[in-house]
Amino acid sequence: MNLILMGLPGAGKGTQAERIIAKYNIPHISTGDMFRAAIKEGTELGLKAKSFMDQGALVPDEVTIGIVRERLSKEDCDKGFLLDGFPRTVAQASALEEIVKDLGKKIDYVINIDVDSDLLLKRLTGRRICKDCGSTYHLVFNPPAVEGVCDKCGGELYQRSDDNEETVANRLEVNIKQTQPLLNFYEELGYLRNINGVQEIGKVFEDIEALIGVLA
Ligand SMILES: [Zn+2]
Repeated sequence: MNLILMGLPGAGKGTQAERIIAKYNIPHISTGDMFRAAIKEGTELGLKAKSFMDQGALVPDEVTIGIVRERLSKEDCDKGFLLDGFPRTVAQASALEEIVKDLGKKIDYVINIDVDSDLLLKRLTGRRICKDCGSTYHLVFNPPAVEGVCDKCGGELYQRSDDNEETVANRLEVNIKQTQPLLNFYEELGYLRNINGVQEIGKVFEDIEALIGVLA
């Protein structure tokens, strides 16, 4: 069960990733975790990645791809894996094809949690956070009992500056532009499966189960 999970910010990717790995017991491989683990283990590639990150620079593809190769070669990936946040570009996706081929594996599905950008805008701009305890709320989907007040501690709720409409719209647009070529790439390979993300969380997961259950 070798899966790639995709979805725009706010599509609910994190929640679905948690459910998939819990139910099917496969490792959740995100770029951030992979980097952190490689750095902690002090591997050659990990140290290389760290030197770029310390300078605030982007880690070059060859380093990232090397780290992905090492990670996917580990024993815990024998039963499968869920890649999240990689690949980000068609170049990385092509490199990934080589890696899985070399390891005698193949990608089964690229699961794209599909939500239209107007709804994502609504989801992302409605977020409110407690100044005191950090609890998060949503004006539409998870409102506090009293407007502007934290249920847990009575603290004041605020909107993060990067949740404002202009910033969010911009972030979505950049993401859509970046993601579309990748979706096209995987559609051509026949891996792409769109899951309707405009449903209740449990229903989204049921659709994912119906798709990947046959692989288990
Ligand atoms: Zn609070």
